[in-house]
Amino acid sequence: MSLIVQKYGGSSVQDAESIKRVAKRIVETKKAGNQVVVVVSAMGDTTDDLLDLADEITEAPPEREMDILLSSGERMSMALLAMAIHQLGESAQSFTGSQAGMITDAIHGKARIIEVSPDRVQESLDAGNVGIVAGFQGMSRESKDITTMGRGGSDTTAVALAAALNADVCEIYSDVDGVFTADPRVVKNARKIDVISSEDMLEMAAAGTKVLHLRSVEYARRFGVKLHVRSSFSDLEGTWVIPGNNDPVTLQEGEPLEQPIISGVSHDDSEAKLTISGVPDVPGKAAEIFNLIAEVGVNIDMIVQNVSDETKTTNISFTLPGADGKKATDILTTHQESIGFEKLDFVPQVAKVSLVGGGMRTAPGVSARFFTALREADINIDLISTSEIRVSVITDVEDMDKAVKAIHTAFGFDSEEEAKVYAGTGR
Ligand code: ASP
Ligand code: MG
Repeated sequence: MSLIVQKYGGSSVQDAESIKRVAKRIVETKKAGNQVVVVVSAMGDTTDDLLDLADEITEAPPEREMDILLSSGERMSMALLAMAIHQLGESAQSFTGSQAGMITDAIHGKARIIEVSPDRVQESLDAGNVGIVAGFQGMSRESKDITTMGRGGSDTTAVALAAALNADVCEIYSDVDGVFTADPRVVKNARKIDVISSEDMLEMAAAGTKVLHLRSVEYARRFGVKLHVRSSFSDLEGTWVIPGNNDPVTLQEGEPLEQPIISGVSHDDSEAKLTISGVPDVPGKAAEIFNLIAEVGVNIDMIVQNVSDETKTTNISFTLPGADGKKATDILTTHQESIGFEKLDFVPQVAKVSLVGGGMRTAPGVSARFFTALREADINIDLISTSEIRVSVITDVEDMDKAVKAIHTAFGFDSEEEAKVYAGTGR
């Protein structure tokens, strides 16, 4: 008998009808002779709606209460799904994150998993039930409080359970047929990737590809969990994410054997940009700035420092999660005098567009083609950063979709077929 963990995202359980449809699929998997554990997200845009509601009450909600509020979204869907399975004549039991033994640290809103002890889920499975677990939440042993793991965290719940229960596969169900060479909501002719290595998937997720939560890919790679990303609206084979594997290459006549393997184009519009100008060009200033940023727990992404001019001052720009903008500007403003900078500029939303794939640094012409595509689309570039397997630019948000399409076409990814988006608002 196989043990399968299935995770259903918000758009797969957005209303009663969808919940019934998903229940059918789960019952079929069980009837085929498998043990099934299901991880669910909150219905549709529930999490966003709860955030909006809290925002109407206060600008600074206590983090503890925020996590209790947000964790309720997943509890609704898990109970309704269990009922729908009962209705089909199978037995199911739902569990909150803490009941399922998801022990996390005490950091609200971005808790990390410390331990997974799914004894109750295992007992429930052994008794012949489908086990249903609320995604993206856990409990801290230290504070004894409910925690959530950050937006999109249900994928990580699923992978962590799959690892702890030694599952044969972790299936991540969403509203598209798998991982594509670009977001099919932006590029209609994006191509489905059949097999992708965890390494490339990590980089795509880090660059903004949302089908899989970044932490779930890290976790799966670490514990050797096989991931199958697929649609809950079709029976098509999706994308397999496997350590050290890529789609087999088919070479055209005369094509060189060694060349970059490009996985796709990712985009992210959740980042903000901060520019500090008139920073004295003396040793230690960057350390001062980034220590302050670290103290308030903000993760930064791209950093660019300009060469200093004749005034012996320089500008430092960096990108950070939009949600952390206030924390970062507050702490820097408080220390303006001691750092000695002139001015702080905050752009609340910028777009990051990245080309991801192996072997790019050693392949001439990749960057040239990338920047030419942007020039031809008349897109202005703000910041640039590159790594072994990624080229990223920051542009205006308005230019983001145009940039993604231009790069996708320039690298020959456009498919003849249109990718299907079955549901969801992509919000
Ligand atoms: N409901 C949460 C969110 O929308 C967690 C998840 O769906 O993975 O971010
Ligand atoms: Mg979600």
